Amino acid sequence: MKVTEHLARAKKPPISFEIIPPKRGDHVKDILSLVKDLQQHQPPFIDITSHPAEVVYEETPDGIQRHVKRKRPGTLGVCSLIQHKYNIDAVPHVLCNGFTQQETEDFLIELRYLGIDNVLAIRGDDKGYRKPLRDGRTRNTYARDLIAQISKMNQGKYLDEYLDAAPTEFCVGCAGYPEKHFEAPNIETDVRRVVEKVEAGAEYVVTQMFFENAHYFRYVEQLREAGVTVPIIPGLKVLTRRGHLRSIPRTFHCEIPQSLSDEIDGARKQDIFDIGVQWTRQQAQELLAGGAPALHFYVMSDASAVNAVIAGLER
Ligand code: FAD
Repeated sequence: MKVTEHLARAKKPPISFEIIPPKRGDHVKDILSLVKDLQQHQPPFIDITSHPAEVVYEETPDGIQRHVKRKRPGTLGVCSLIQHKYNIDAVPHVLCNGFTQQETEDFLIELRYLGIDNVLAIRGDDKGYRKPLRDGRTRNTYARDLIAQISKMNQGKYLDEYLDAAPTEFCVGCAGYPEKHFEAPNIETDVRRVVEKVEAGAEYVVTQMFFENAHYFRYVEQLREAGVTVPIIPGLKVLTRRGHLRSIPRTFHCEIPQSLSDEIDGARKQDIFDIGVQWTRQQAQELLAGGAPALHFYVMSDASAVNAVIAGLER
């Protein structure tokens, strides 16, 4: 079922999750036990991230060597398992960066054959590797272009023309940034980019994580003023380690409120998990009271903190 149908039918705002495929060489069993654990919350859908090849530098006896590696393949396989073993709608992330339009079309065809109805269309970050384009292959530059490609497939228009081509029926989501995307010159321009993504066919927005709800509520107002009417699902992450105070702003370009960073900074190591859980639970409670259509938790590969948040949540 489509994410938008889940949202429309839900009697109360549903809870969804985002998980990450295993590293190359790891076993799938860990992710399956993670999904089993998350099943207790009856998620209508689970997102699975996608990861392109990237440049890595490795120390070898012959000196430092540059390699191009895809560290986390497996999005397709994990989606299929979630969809068919656990009967939860899988939402694979589909990327511009690292994939040609032709590879994306093939990926979407596989998804359709697997009965997967949803995708989150994302540009992806620059990982230092730009795949060369050969033999007339093409790429999507921005998420808007990728969404346009998927929308065309939804109309039966593939990259090459086929007679009586079967239209796909993907429900497409896109990303939004309450504190603006780090490359955007200002929030107004970034909001316009979301408008373009919705015009291209995105049917809902999932936000980057934020730790101050005022950012989300202001962002919803800005998008509504710009004419965006689709659901805007808040993305939440639980801080569980002191190291998160540095790594999260650096990686995700979001601010951590001073009261939270002070509390974590001054806490004993064993108390940090509870501080993070309480903060996110408070955020989740306020978001529900403020009319959020769903809550989307960035779980990645460990559900313990998110389980603790949801255990104490009044819905
Ligand atoms: P876009 O919407 O294309 O925007 C990227 C930047 O370009 C913005 O600054 C925007 O303002 C600007 N822009 C957009 N259109 C134009 C235009 N026409 N002209 C000029 N500038 C323009 N990354 C992964 O690698 N894998 C994942 O699975 C993944 N999942 C994510 C899930 C969510 C919910 C979120 C919020 C992020 C996720 N990311 C993921 C990170 C994402 O790839 C990065 O944030 C990326 O830098 C931007 O992706 P986007 O789809 O928002 O890009």
